[in-house]
Amino acid sequence: MNSERLELICQQCGGVLHLGTDEARCEKGHGYLLVLGRILDVVADKEGSTNVEELRLAATMSLAFEQATYAELLVLLDRHYSEAPDHLRSVYTDYVRSAISRNRRMVLAFRTQALQWYDLTPDGSALELGCGFGGSFPVLSRLYKRVAGIEPSLPRLIIAAKLLDEHNIHNVQLVRAYAQHVPFRDSSFDYVTAINVMEHVLDVEGVMNEVHRLLRSGSVFLSDSRNRYDLFLWNPM
Ligand SMILES: [Zn+2]
Repeated sequence: MNSERLELICQQCGGVLHLGTDEARCEKGHGYLLVLGRILDVVADKEGSTNVEELRLAATMSLAFEQATYAELLVLLDRHYSEAPDHLRSVYTDYVRSAISRNRRMVLAFRTQALQWYDLTPDGSALELGCGFGGSFPVLSRLYKRVAGIEPSLPRLIIAAKLLDEHNIHNVQLVRAYAQHVPFRDSSFDYVTAINVMEHVLDVEGVMNEVHRLLRSGSVFLSDSRNRYDLFLWNPM
């Protein structure tokens, strides 16, 4: 693939999706919402996918998006989910913000290992499954020409979009999707990563099949997950 952008694929017919200002459409006319004109949502219309509370929060965050900072959007999200007092809220915000440096160390360590073990292309395309607030994008966007992040939570993707703006990153496509159904063509990626994600997945086999479909031959999937015997983990799986 030589194009600067990753090709997005219609989930209903497999045709190419063309991005407009507030929606994406295939040649056959299947339409998908583009939240904030940039986050492709392939989940919204699926039965049972709509969490009204979460959509309301996403709408609030979309309205605040232009004026709010990354940290302020994080606080908005946290206000919605927790009753924590303000001093704990700032601890949470600091923790999430520090994810950028934690992810940087993790991605670089993973990638250094992968480059040693495999004959990896040094640039190319990378996909992050479950990208959350986008903490790994500042490093992934510099290591790869084209990057995509998928995540089922729209509010988290909105925060990730803000992070991209604040770091002046333009080569990352955000998609609201589940890891079993990622709207990119077969063999689109040189590197797929899932950090603390697989423990949340119900259909692990479905996700692994999708990862296999998305990776080019000889490419790498790197994932870490919680250790169920971790003494400090309060919710062992
Ligand atoms: Zn279509």
